Amino acid sequence: MINVVIRKIVKDIKKDGILTKIKITVSLNLMKQIVLERSVKNMESKYKHAEAYCLMKYKCEKCGKTEILWNSRDGVTPFMIKCEKCDGHMQHTDWNEDKRIVNYIPKIGQRVFIDMPFDYYKIYCRVRAKMIKENVEGNTDTLQKIYNNLITEYNKKEPYIIKI
Ligand SMILES: [Zn+2]
Repeated sequence: MINVVIRKIVKDIKKDGILTKIKITVSLNLMKQIVLERSVKNMESKYKHAEAYCLMKYKCEKCGKTEILWNSRDGVTPFMIKCEKCDGHMQHTDWNEDKRIVNYIPKIGQRVFIDMPFDYYKIYCRVRAKMIKENVEGNTDTLQKIYNNLITEYNKKEPYIIKI
């Protein structure tokens, strides 16, 4: 994916009593979706990501709504997600209150982070290929070729949101 880095953050958080340094790169992809890459500096943790299996609070910058999402795997989560109420941006907030519950059972209607489903990604690439074909000047590649290039960038560990 072609990502433009818009912000870099380094933060210390405490999780399970262990101080963890996390580095975050916030970037914007072609579809103007916020993408987040997070790396954890903590050799003691058995998880690769500080937010593994955590309940995480997000707050809308526009309408103020807060929501708790659960990260169902040891994978990255977005720094920002869409607010279902007003379509604004919700930002991950109160990081120190993230609570890790590995066997958490979500509530009906709760949103949950999962690994990127390939079936979704295929359709997403078709949409992006069309956008590139129609909007990128000087692009002479066929739709199929653009799609084929995009599909090679599939990364299962990217976050995807489902609603239970
Ligand atoms: Zn909102």
